[in-house]
Amino acid sequence: MTANLAQMTGPESAEAIARSRTAVLPLGSIEQHGPHLPNGTDAMAAELIAHAVAEQLGAVYVPFGPYGVTPIHAGHAGTVNLRRETFEALLTDVCTELVRMGVRTFVLVNWHEGNIAAMNAVATDLQDRGDAVFFAVQACYTAQRVYREHGGELTHGGGIETLAMLAHDPALVKTERAGAPTRPPGAQAMDRMRRSHEVYGFITDVSELADDGWYGNPGWATPQLAEQFTETVSSAVLEALASAMRARDIRRDDRGPGDRPS
Ligand SMILES: [Zn+2]
Repeated sequence: MTANLAQMTGPESAEAIARSRTAVLPLGSIEQHGPHLPNGTDAMAAELIAHAVAEQLGAVYVPFGPYGVTPIHAGHAGTVNLRRETFEALLTDVCTELVRMGVRTFVLVNWHEGNIAAMNAVATDLQDRGDAVFFAVQACYTAQRVYREHGGELTHGGGIETLAMLAHDPALVKTERAGAPTRPPGAQAMDRMRRSHEVYGFITDVSELADDGWYGNPGWATPQLAEQFTETVSSAVLEALASAMRARDIRRDDRGPGDRPS
């Protein structure tokens, strides 16, 4: 069973943190996901993967709260947008408290692209203080990689997010309301444009991507495929995380003690 900060007693959490010194936090968003998926899709997907990752690492799972930075969906029914400074302040405070309790390694498991700039800013600021090291997991990109062979593109409200919600709670998925797969002309090109590492532009309202707020093909997300979703995505995350952690350890061993906070 996962050591969950919210569910443990004070002494139990002190013990769990002393044991692993690692905290796993889920970061997501509450925002409209079309007529077929719940507003909390990103939050619930992040929680699903973060639970599995915490369990495998023997780390402490720390609930964060479902809201994220999502100006792109602001003003659309179902969306609650946090200002970047609100999100950054919340994440800073939560992590600072955890450092005080003895956490020295943070794994931020994110399923919402709008959070990335803010989470990176907080992680680098706090790590720079020297109290702890941070690892960022963009679980939605990991899911995109592992489901590519199924035609899995990461689109807002498409197959990958439908799969995540089927894995979490099939009662929340209303695929029959999605209608035919939508592929607005240019939406994929716009997604490539905003996700490029090299030269990229910005999207500030989801209607720039798709008029009805979502696009993609939820059709390939079947209950059978969903059965393995959590295991499949979390093991891919853990593999990538292990190699990121190894890189840091190799460097530390090379430089001797004192490099990494203990
Ligand atoms: Zn989403």
